[in-house]
Amino acid sequence: MTMNQKMTLKQRMLNFMQGRYGVDQLSGFLIWTAVIIAVITMFVRVPVLQIVTWVMIIYAYVRIFSKQINKRYAQNQKFLDATWGIRKFFADIRYRIKYGKQTAEPYHIYKCRKCGQKIRVPKGKGKIMITCPKCKYQFKKKS
Ligand SMILES: [Zn+2]
Repeated sequence: MTMNQKMTLKQRMLNFMQGRYGVDQLSGFLIWTAVIIAVITMFVRVPVLQIVTWVMIIYAYVRIFSKQINKRYAQNQKFLDATWGIRKFFADIRYRIKYGKQTAEPYHIYKCRKCGQKIRVPKGKGKIMITCPKCKYQFKKKS
């Protein structure tokens, strides 16, 4: 493939994704769960699970290519809120694997006062300005 073709392919992809939602955590979760189930069904043949795998992947791509960005965004927020506990549990495990002995995550979790976005801020930095990554709202907090 020449450089030129690569560029046009990328350009075409960008054009196609214009105004479409794209990948988010919910779609990523659906695809990864589908992949894991697909691997399991290679060993354990359960026809229903194979259907479930396809439904999850198709639904994930319907969301990714959706033009109803606000709806998809709200859906993803609901998903994030619903799985907050589980995700934090795994984030803590990842943190412990990475940094070893510390049992507690040295972070504060603040909620953005404007949009409700959860923001992770390292502890022990004194008074700091926090900027919400989603809505860019700024507020002061002691960390
Ligand atoms: Zn915000």
